[in-house]
Amino acid sequence: MSERRGGGCTSVLSLLLVLGLVISMVVYVSPGLDLGDVRRTVSPDRAAGVPGSGGEGYTFMQVTDGGGPVTWECGAVIELEVNPQRAPEGYADLVAAAVAQVDEVSGFTFEVIGETDDREFTGRGRGPVLLGWADEGEVPELTGPTAGLGGASYVIGPGGGARSVGGVVVLDTDQPGGWLGGLDDQTVLVHELIHVLGLGHSEDPDQLMAAENSGQDELGEGDLAGLAALDDAACG
Ligand SMILES: [Zn+2]
Repeated sequence: MSERRGGGCTSVLSLLLVLGLVISMVVYVSPGLDLGDVRRTVSPDRAAGVPGSGGEGYTFMQVTDGGGPVTWECGAVIELEVNPQRAPEGYADLVAAAVAQVDEVSGFTFEVIGETDDREFTGRGRGPVLLGWADEGEVPELTGPTAGLGGASYVIGPGGGARSVGGVVVLDTDQPGGWLGGLDDQTVLVHELIHVLGLGHSEDPDQLMAAENSGQDELGEGDLAGLAALDDAACG
């Protein structure tokens, strides 16, 4: 969850709280039930990552009963729909750049399939991942210094295995601390897309998946190890 680092106030110019909350959604599937008729619930737990899961420098957003991460199918092409309403100028280039950055280092591929006017940022189930921009009036979780939200919806099969089947990324139209020049939109978007893939927050402040960005705009070793672990879990 969001928290400001105590002390060290002189470093506030480079220490911007960024990426606090994560939406996670669960789509439960009963054995034999058609996936189109699934019962959907929104998890009240907005913790960004399961403590103690993952490995050095990374955590998983969700884990199955077997302890493995919840992620997408091996090599999945993940469809991304963009709602351009309230998007910053040049958003298409921003999205393309962030997607390319994530695709290069993960075993999954985000594919922008087009634009939409869909603004259902919560309670999403199966379908394309929705990417949009909003303010805290529309999405209260964006209140304060939180710059973005991201997460996946997933199905749990009868055997306890899970697969991500949809998701959402919503970015704050009013990026915190933007005037300080320390945090760029692409960094936020990459962070949120990686939440969609299945990584939670890292406790290591040097990782891009740290809840609080202290200037890093490149993926760290923990981030890369986490992405590799997702790939292993999906394809293993
Ligand atoms: Zn985050």
